[in-house]
Amino acid sequence: MQIPGSGILKGLAVTARNMIGSYFEPERLITQQYPEEKPKLPERARVFPFLIYDGSDPETGIRCTSCKICEKECPPQCIYIVQDRDQNGKPIKRPKIFNIDISVCMSCGICVEVCPFDSIRMDTEFELSSFDRFSSLILDKSRLLKPNSYYHQIHPTEAAQTDERIEAERRKKQAASAAKNTPSKPTTPSQPSTPPQTPNSIQTERPPASTPAATS
Ligand code: SF4
Ligand code: SF4
Repeated sequence: MQIPGSGILKGLAVTARNMIGSYFEPERLITQQYPEEKPKLPERARVFPFLIYDGSDPETGIRCTSCKICEKECPPQCIYIVQDRDQNGKPIKRPKIFNIDISVCMSCGICVEVCPFDSIRMDTEFELSSFDRFSSLILDKSRLLKPNSYYHQIHPTEAAQTDERIEAERRKKQAASAAKNTPSKPTTPSQPSTPPQTPNSIQTERPPASTPAATS
């Protein structure tokens, strides 16, 4: 039988133990002085998506090919992409417009899962509140694009694995194209199955000449 009020006493004992313990063990101090102190997020933390670019120029290094798979698969349909075109109107494999409405995004990460080009990943940036409910919550290309070094900074293990995979795929493609461009060996004429016939052999193969009919 439980004594009435024993639960309250147990709770108070835990609080007292932690209060006194916090003077001796700093890890017991779990209150963080945010926003002065920023929390150290775990590597697997995810908030909203961002786009990765390689090198130093976001426009030329953008990995996104504007395939629009993420746009189609996004459950709340908060991605909007317009493919870029050259001066002749020919489509270019990069987005001209890439917007994500983070007031709608539910941080499911499906866009990341379906992207075949490792172009989109989940960011850990969460300080995105704004007084403007609309335009500032639509992240355009300039706000979405971040370098691969940033990806390494926030998700080091995942970024290293992605880089390894991209490098392996690049090598595989290189090997395949090298094999395709290597001229094939000239074929040697095949040996005839039977040796060429010499006049003698021709003679020997002839049917035996019919013997003249015996004269009676
Ligand atoms: S995380 Fe989910 S909801 Fe947000 S953009 Fe990607 S697919 Fe859409
Ligand atoms: S982010 Fe990935 S899936 Fe989405 S359009 Fe770009 S390449 Fe395609």
